[in-house]
Amino acid sequence: MKVGSNVLTTDKGKLDITRMSALVDQIAWLRWHNYEVILVSSGAVACGRKELQVDHMLDSVEQRQLFSAMGQVKLINLYYDLFREYNIHIGQVLTTKENFQSERQYQNQRACMQVMLENGVLPIVNENDTVSIEELMFTDNDELSGLIAQMMNAQTLVLLSNVDGIYNGDPANPGSEVIRAIKPGEDLSCYIQSEKSSAGRGGMASKYKTASSVAQAGIKVIIANGNRENILRDLAERPRETIHTEFSEK
Ligand code: GLU
Repeated sequence: MKVGSNVLTTDKGKLDITRMSALVDQIAWLRWHNYEVILVSSGAVACGRKELQVDHMLDSVEQRQLFSAMGQVKLINLYYDLFREYNIHIGQVLTTKENFQSERQYQNQRACMQVMLENGVLPIVNENDTVSIEELMFTDNDELSGLIAQMMNAQTLVLLSNVDGIYNGDPANPGSEVIRAIKPGEDLSCYIQSEKSSAGRGGMASKYKTASSVAQAGIKVIIANGNRENILRDLAERPRETIHTEFSEK
């Protein structure tokens, strides 16, 4: 499951602790119901930005390095406190695209998450923005979560964003509706808006790309709104009544 920066931060760019806490409650519920969960969480850069007032100009790489280094600490600390309420152990995995490229690193990374899951530890994953080199970065955490879902042979990948799914028109237009089901090989690129939401690097175009390729690989993908109350529980318990876009697996 992937949660984007726009779900985890408020309009002012601060960490939305109420939202995080609600997501943690639902992940605890999922685990209680025997779902194994890997959480890919963005929010480090957005979170670090609020920690420090910088009085001189930083270029984009410096900003990413500084703010992700500071923000990741805050983010994971908060998860630690929230999950501890449920006696859930968490572990942090920071990765880079290079870790998916060589077979040895790939297997090593898979073994790491495997041993965490086997021991009931919830892996919380993010890109290691502090040391990743710009040209070699994941497009965004959507891409990262897609690679992890495939690496771990997940049954389902849930991408939580601040919209209800993929619309058949401009989401701002009241006549537009969420496309509920996308069949393998169906091309919807004409519906995809290229604008991105404010806080993260991703956007619907990237979600669509990730979702299509992950579904091709045989994994069900769901795009849903992480700001909706009880979204994860509702997706698990009453998917038909819960608004989202589902890419069915091949
Ligand atoms: N890794 C970045 C962060 O935690 C977010 C990347 C993205 O927006 O997908 O801030």
